[in-house]
Amino acid sequence: MAAKTHQFNCLSDNFGVLLHDTATGRTASIDAPDAAPVEAALAHTGWTLTDILVTHHHGDHTAGIPALKKKYQCRVVASRADAGRIADVDETVGEGDIVRLGELSGRVLETPGHTAGHICYVFDSEKLAFVGDTLFSVGCGRVIEGTMEQMWHSLRKLRALPDDTAFFCGHEYTQANIRFARTIEPDNPDLQARAREVDALRAAGNPTLPSTIGAEKRTNCFLRADLPSVAAAVGLAGRSAAEVFAEIRKRKNNF
Ligand code: ZN
Ligand code: FE
Repeated sequence: MAAKTHQFNCLSDNFGVLLHDTATGRTASIDAPDAAPVEAALAHTGWTLTDILVTHHHGDHTAGIPALKKKYQCRVVASRADAGRIADVDETVGEGDIVRLGELSGRVLETPGHTAGHICYVFDSEKLAFVGDTLFSVGCGRVIEGTMEQMWHSLRKLRALPDDTAFFCGHEYTQANIRFARTIEPDNPDLQARAREVDALRAAGNPTLPSTIGAEKRTNCFLRADLPSVAAAVGLAGRSAAEVFAEIRKRKNNF
């Protein structure tokens, strides 16, 4: 089995990603922020769209679906919980379901918090995860529809993936995320190193994604809410990880 990915910019700060199965030629767009950049990416790669795997219902992840569906008659897969809020859905999925893309096999993780029906797609044998607006590099999505506890649980599911899992997310927010993370963990040497790396990538006009689960475990304060040092840093020593997570998320909202 062999997967290829192609990441590109959409809208102002969204990423688009194509996932391609080299054995069969099947190609999925992970979300569809806008039809035109997805079509440009297809032209660039020479791949033909066969599937859209939707992470959540927000417009900056779904606006391109109707035009792409009309042009390619592609299969649209989305969360069962979100199906009523997304156009042109063919197949609905939930926790543990397997989504096949040719010979590639993706496992669905339900990750409520950013939205109630948010899902992620994990291609275990390819060590690839598509996490939408649940996990960002050095950040996480805003908790809009779920509870802080749900979001913390969702992030722990992603944190449990192997360290060498590469993940793609919905937005290029890394530089701003790092500015905030340094207010929580100013002395984290891995965060300082990531800041230098990200500044260099952005100065050269390059994306900071994909990142890896291992890198996030060292640098992403939202994934580190159960460390005593992080609890102490936000004045919540001895409190539950979900409470610490909630405090960090609230601070980020006001940053
Ligand atoms: Zn969103
Ligand atoms: Fe988004």
